[in-house]
Amino acid sequence: MKLFTCKECSNLLYFENTHCERCGSLLGFLPDDMDLHTLLPRQVQTFSLKDAGPEHYRYCANAQLQACNWLLPAHQEDPLCQACSLNHTIPNLQEAGHVVL
Ligand SMILES: [Zn+2]
Ligand SMILES: [Zn+2]
Repeated sequence: MKLFTCKECSNLLYFENTHCERCGSLLGFLPDDMDLHTLLPRQVQTFSLKDAGPEHYRYCANAQLQACNWLLPAHQEDPLCQACSLNHTIPNLQEAGHVVL
């Protein structure tokens, strides 16, 4: 299993973590660079990444069900991330989330 580190406190993180156990930072997985990022709250429901530029992101709609911690661009129309929208339309596809796990 791939491990990640918190960008805030360097604590060790697992892929499915939604917040850092040590410092409490919110976390989100960004498929663009396959990394788990520490999030900085911006507007309602949107975040920017601690270690990246000013782009805004929000959680996948399935995050409300505790089922997903992937991020997508705040302006994206599809409320689901890449992995979940693939799941939805093409069941049993070898999608990226399983490859990472
Ligand atoms: Zn931390
Ligand atoms: Zn998702």
